[in-house]
Amino acid sequence: MPELPEVETVRRGLQPVMEGAVVEKLVLNRPDLRFPFPENLNERLQGQKIVSLGRRAKYLLIEFEDGASLISHLGMSGSYRIEPDLRISAPKQAQEQADDGFHYPRSKNPAHDHVVFHVQSEIYGQRQVIYNDPRRFGFLLLCGAGELADHPSLKDLGIEPTGNSLSGAVLASLFKGKKTVLKAALLDQRLIAGLGNIYVCEALWRTGLSPLRAAAEVAEDPKLAEALATSIREVIAEAIVAGGSSLRDHRQADGTLGYFQHSFAVYDREGEPCRRCGAPVQRIVQNGRSTFFCAACSV
Ligand SMILES: [Zn+2]
Repeated sequence: MPELPEVETVRRGLQPVMEGAVVEKLVLNRPDLRFPFPENLNERLQGQKIVSLGRRAKYLLIEFEDGASLISHLGMSGSYRIEPDLRISAPKQAQEQADDGFHYPRSKNPAHDHVVFHVQSEIYGQRQVIYNDPRRFGFLLLCGAGELADHPSLKDLGIEPTGNSLSGAVLASLFKGKKTVLKAALLDQRLIAGLGNIYVCEALWRTGLSPLRAAAEVAEDPKLAEALATSIREVIAEAIVAGGSSLRDHRQADGTLGYFQHSFAVYDREGEPCRRCGAPVQRIVQNGRSTFFCAACSV
């Protein structure tokens, strides 16, 4: 499942082509994804200039000159890629990517190309921005001018884990009196927005904190709260940097944005030696999801 760093990498990859571009046509190859597509979407967006491509948590926000925005969520397997417009050049041989070490599946099978933005970019000329999603858990929602902040998908989201706003003091205030365990508190999107399973495991390991510890205990220890806030910001920032390098390295060869190989300290490493103490990494299930941690050096 794409997490915040992957979504941010997609945003950075799409931004040069999409920002300032005019939508010539929007082609929907089916009636819905997770939700039905907004009615008359092509008519609504045709001829409009895209003024910005933003992100909030794991949502891409495509803002148009009339103030409307498209909220794009990648679901489990959504991806974007940019191709030259097929009206002016022959399509590349489409191919289904095999398991290649990436931590979530990607596809370039044209059967899963559900949305195609035909855009005219001032710099790049005619381009197709293609949304592919084999499992179709992703969605596109249209939001009118001024409605974005109060949209149900966005209005209850907590603080972003990027930048410096997530400090130890902020984390302590969020976790104050929370009897829930750290893993659950960190996944609570109303507290911190966009943190997912992978980076929660990584941030806890980096801090030396057990995912089973009560969130309130961290709130009561300013040093621990600061250390955890720092780890969260670091694991996210490092993954965004890795995604950025993948854009530079692979865009020409691949064209699929936001997918990069990343080596994790504990995530998906059950039984392998902990990179801090050498003890085997353990996997437990919390709220139906795998947690990877080192019981030997995390307290
Ligand atoms: Zn360890």
